Amino acid sequence: MNNLLVMKFGGTSVGNSTRIAASCALIAKEAAVRPVVAVVSAMSKVTDLLLDTTKHAEAGDRPVVDRNIETLRNRHLETARELLSGSELQDVEAAIGILVGEFQRIVGGMEMLAYRPPRAVDEAIAIGERLSSVLVAAYLRSKGVPAEAVNAAEVVVTDAVFNNASPIMDATRQKANSRLAPVLANGIVPVVTGFNGATTDGRPTTLGRGGSDFSASILAASLDASELWIWSDVDGIMTADPRLVPNAKILDEITYAEAAELAWAGAKVLHPRTLAPIVERGIPVWSKNSFAPEKPGTRIVSKLGEGNAGARAVTSMANVTLVSLEPANPAVSGVHVMARALDALDRVNVEILALSSSSYRQSFCFLVRNDELTKSLEAIESALAIEMAHGYVHEPEVDHNVGLLAVVGEGMRGFSGFAGRIFTAISRASINIIAIAQGSNELTISVVVRRDGLEKAVQAVHAECSL
Ligand code: ASP
Ligand code: MG
Repeated sequence: MNNLLVMKFGGTSVGNSTRIAASCALIAKEAAVRPVVAVVSAMSKVTDLLLDTTKHAEAGDRPVVDRNIETLRNRHLETARELLSGSELQDVEAAIGILVGEFQRIVGGMEMLAYRPPRAVDEAIAIGERLSSVLVAAYLRSKGVPAEAVNAAEVVVTDAVFNNASPIMDATRQKANSRLAPVLANGIVPVVTGFNGATTDGRPTTLGRGGSDFSASILAASLDASELWIWSDVDGIMTADPRLVPNAKILDEITYAEAAELAWAGAKVLHPRTLAPIVERGIPVWSKNSFAPEKPGTRIVSKLGEGNAGARAVTSMANVTLVSLEPANPAVSGVHVMARALDALDRVNVEILALSSSSYRQSFCFLVRNDELTKSLEAIESALAIEMAHGYVHEPEVDHNVGLLAVVGEGMRGFSGFAGRIFTAISRASINIIAIAQGSNELTISVVVRRDGLEKAVQAVHAECSL
């Protein structure tokens, strides 16, 4: 569609009535001059509340379930009352009642089963976005902007990997066009739920925590949007986390590849999978602050102009664990151990943050998020059970006292000296380097250091690369 703009609003940008009004003003301004699709997250902290409720339901903890449901209902009703009045308010109150009732019904089932089937969890936690989309659409209408709340289960077609689904793009493209193009053609702003979708046969799914960014990019690609604006509560993508590096700067421009690497390595601005659907189509993305919309934000594009050599940003992750595996017998090849381990990790959907292998003894190590450690170890131990039982492979070694630092920049490619400067900066700060990884695309240099040196290492590298 010509000149279409997709605008995505994160949880804090729709976190209360004031923020909803401000975000709707941003939508109204654009909708006056071009077709707009809005994509919304749940109000801040609501997804956590919904998930927590499903856990208490599974545990049979009725008082907490009931209390959470009342919190959910009241937060949305109060927000509606602050935003709307008259019959508009009544309609929204009724819609909130129905959605909260739906949530109650699902968690009631979990309580009865003492179990949370992944599919039911997805159906339950998508209610947060459905509630916020109803509020946003109603408020837009009350301000004279025609708008319609749309459940992405009617639009985004995914595989059946519940809790972490991936889109099936061809099917989504068809559905998005048949469901949303007529709405847009009538001058109505569709306010689509972020985060959720449904399988081809209609089973509800979600795209993983923080997945509303991903939803927005899936829709932008499917509808051939001309731009995607992602509104959050920060000014854009920064050269480092400003809590660690006070003089970190906002980047004016960054490439898709750089932004994706940064998201992967812990920068919280974008969901790591966000950019994949739009790279191929070259749709420009802006990361902007809905609390300070006058600031330019960061533009994410295919290619940067000249004069952007060197590192672009440094990021870090503290809640990670390093796992090492080593053959215990020369008859077993390290490659075999690695292949078996990686296959096992893949089967349980673990994200490997860095991987490194070297030495005659063919040991290798990889880094995972702490919350994926247990399932990683279980997967490896079951895949290599026989080898371990017979002393061909050592038990995995686990090191919790580590952190990951990643330096990202397309401008490092093909230049010598960056790795040297980074390592020198880290060692000058007297921080021991435990493992190193750089892919052959030379986009990211990942360094695993002792946890207590992580912050200092980030500061040292940021200063050295004059970011
Ligand atoms: N509401 C979902 C979450 O908190 C998705 C999102 O906000 O992007 O994970
Ligand atoms: Mg979010």
